[in-house]
Amino acid sequence: MSTNTAPSTNETPVLEALHLRKEFPLHTIKLFGPPQAIHAVEDASLALRPGHATALVGESGSGKTTVARLLARLYAPTAGSIRYREEIVRTRGEAALRSYRRHVQMVFQDPFSSLNPMHMVRYHLSRPLRIYGHAHGAAEETRLIMSLLERVNLTPAEQFVSKFPHQLSGGQRQRVAIARALAARPSVLLADEPVSMLDVSIRLDILNLLARLKEEENLALLFITHDLASARYFAEETQVMYAGQMVEGGPSEEVIQRPQHPYTQLLLSAAPDPDRFGSVDQHQQDDGKGSPRIQMILPASGSGELPSLITPPGGCRFHPRCPHAMPVCRQQFPPRTELGGGHWIHCFLYGAENAQSGEVKGKFGGWPQEVRLQRGVRPRRMNE
Ligand code: SF4
Repeated sequence: MSTNTAPSTNETPVLEALHLRKEFPLHTIKLFGPPQAIHAVEDASLALRPGHATALVGESGSGKTTVARLLARLYAPTAGSIRYREEIVRTRGEAALRSYRRHVQMVFQDPFSSLNPMHMVRYHLSRPLRIYGHAHGAAEETRLIMSLLERVNLTPAEQFVSKFPHQLSGGQRQRVAIARALAARPSVLLADEPVSMLDVSIRLDILNLLARLKEEENLALLFITHDLASARYFAEETQVMYAGQMVEGGPSEEVIQRPQHPYTQLLLSAAPDPDRFGSVDQHQQDDGKGSPRIQMILPASGSGELPSLITPPGGCRFHPRCPHAMPVCRQQFPPRTELGGGHWIHCFLYGAENAQSGEVKGKFGGWPQEVRLQRGVRPRRMNE
């Protein structure tokens, strides 16, 4: 598998998440104060394009899976919207939901629990074919099932069609789960950590299979992972999440080779990639323009843990762990700053206009800029 190239941002997205927010109410008895909730996702946006893979990376509990489940309409968003082929998705009622899921399918992390142990492979594949009206008659259904098994490299297909899930390996089960998703003939595939529960020896096979299907079927693919190396090699685009907030994104090569957000730098320092040129520190200091850049001072193992999502920190949720945190970071979430080439970031260290504008300027008199200068951090401007 080769490193992916930058996405074509001109192509119209097939599926878009627009400022999604998800809160899960906690049904606990609380005598005083407002009812509590888990603030799982805050203002998440992304766009999936045909024939392209977008990786969503972050630690466990960062909200990646919640975003995928919101897109699959397994959860209803608390706020924000989803657009499919430029139309806002409204999935009230069984028929509307079924119609939406015909186009947007999901592959789950655990191939052991995603298949019903009581049913053979034939049943799992025939069901979507019938529900979505793709098979007319038993002969056509059998032909389509065999074709699906061959497309996911379960050959000879006759040997697998009558097997129960417990007679299959983890990798074979995940291939059946992928075939089941393909049976609906979707245009979007949401893959939630599809290889994390599989044996290391077969992970690459499954990733290669997904990459081939993406090309052949022109699928828009969302790849949820905590593994930056596989994000880099599998996906054209990468977005990084921390504690429910999107913090950085852009072409995978750019985000992973030249991480700008302190959290992305922390993730990369904890997962060294031999292909990366030098260390993050070295790279940050030498950008070929002789300019001072953010110094990587976080320890390799990271400092602190993910914050509570019941009472998340205000503003940028990374501020309790961030060595560059400023008072403004506790007050509000930084707006998106374009860094050029499709690379963007939510961080007050970038884009002088962030710190100088509106309420921030009024409240702090623009002192975040001074802090940057004191720390030797040069704000980066658009297309710099
Ligand atoms: Fe750190 Fe502030 Fe940037 Fe958040 S916004 S990553 S706290 S500098």
